[in-house]
Amino acid sequence: MFDIILFKLGETILKGQNRRVFENRLIANIKRRLSSFGRFKIYSLQSTIYAEPQGDCDMEGALEAALTIFGVNTVVRAASCEKNVESIVETACEYLESELETARTFKVESKRSDKSFPMGSIELSQYVGGMLHQRFPNLTPEMKSPELLVNVEVRDLAAYVHGTALTAAGGLPVGVGGRMVALLSGGIDSPVAMHMMAKRGVMLIPVHFYSFPYTSILAKEKVLTLAQTLSPYCGRLMVEYVPFTHIQEAIRDCCPEPLATVLSRRFMIRISEQIALMNNCNALVTGENLGQVASQTTEAMSVIEESATLPILRPLIAFDKKEIIDRARLIGTYETSILPYEDCCSVFSPRRPKTKPRLDEVLAAEAALDIYALVEEALGGIERITA
Ligand code: ATP
Ligand code: MG
Repeated sequence: MFDIILFKLGETILKGQNRRVFENRLIANIKRRLSSFGRFKIYSLQSTIYAEPQGDCDMEGALEAALTIFGVNTVVRAASCEKNVESIVETACEYLESELETARTFKVESKRSDKSFPMGSIELSQYVGGMLHQRFPNLTPEMKSPELLVNVEVRDLAAYVHGTALTAAGGLPVGVGGRMVALLSGGIDSPVAMHMMAKRGVMLIPVHFYSFPYTSILAKEKVLTLAQTLSPYCGRLMVEYVPFTHIQEAIRDCCPEPLATVLSRRFMIRISEQIALMNNCNALVTGENLGQVASQTTEAMSVIEESATLPILRPLIAFDKKEIIDRARLIGTYETSILPYEDCCSVFSPRRPKTKPRLDEVLAAEAALDIYALVEEALGGIERITA
């Protein structure tokens, strides 16, 4: 008997001819993610990916990490054994001993993908169930809602015994959905937006705009912490820090105050688009949400959008704030997001922002600025930090 982790694939297996590509990507992601918990042999067979420890591995840590990998529906830690009933029963008794001793009701469920196995799955369940019942007199069989579900899977290479499977992260493997630039502020919304896009298989490059010395060094660190918290889901993230002070000062000094937010957002989008083009990305992602603040009306968003040609994706557009906060808590970014460091937008935000800006007035305001020079200067000052 030896311990193994089984990953049952989610949507990936539905993807017809792309399936191989998706599976290979998922295997690579699992390899990378488990590498810090020891040496694993990782292979795929019959819509399942197997992670077999080679020597001493931190199985608990690996199992927890497995739950954050997109593209996986369920994860189980199982014991593998020889493909005969005696060995299956022995393995179940040993591997699930403490659960078998404490549960009151149980059920055995079997799957048999190796059709040469001499027993059918119902017969196998009955046999194993009977043997367990004999050994553990505390157990009563219960078919509808048993306390303990003992799973037996007879597969190509071996038989596997495990308890209840854990619900994993779902979605698609990161990397199969292309690459995008994500505008990551220190707020609650944009980390949640990143998590949602990563779940659709997108590989993300986070970009953060900061206005030192108006915003503190702590605000920059906060963004790095957010990226680190997202890394288990998104893969290793490299944050692009863009100096934004000169742009915001130029807007403050040369443009009408009520347009400041929308003007600075247009610069963020322009710069993000350049970063996207340099990195083979085909869209931008923001944490915008309809009606939340002045810059998030349809009028403001369409004026902002005009500054780029790449599509701007806004996964949170129709969420309630509470729904976003619940998700932020779940993925672990909330506590960092609410730390009270100023964002560059809040420092320069106008007293009475225009909620329905018109494109013609925005373009007229921008005529006072050397857009090209400001964008080039910001791009030249980018600093990249791996989370
Ligand atoms: P968040 O919680 O993500 O900060 P928000 O509700 O505070 O969002 P805004 O401040 O209007 O809304 O920002 C809208 C979006 O613009 C953010 O979700 C983010 O994608 C982007 N953004 C805002 N400020 C920055 C910044 N300093 N760096 C990078 N992106 C930013
Ligand atoms: Mg914000």
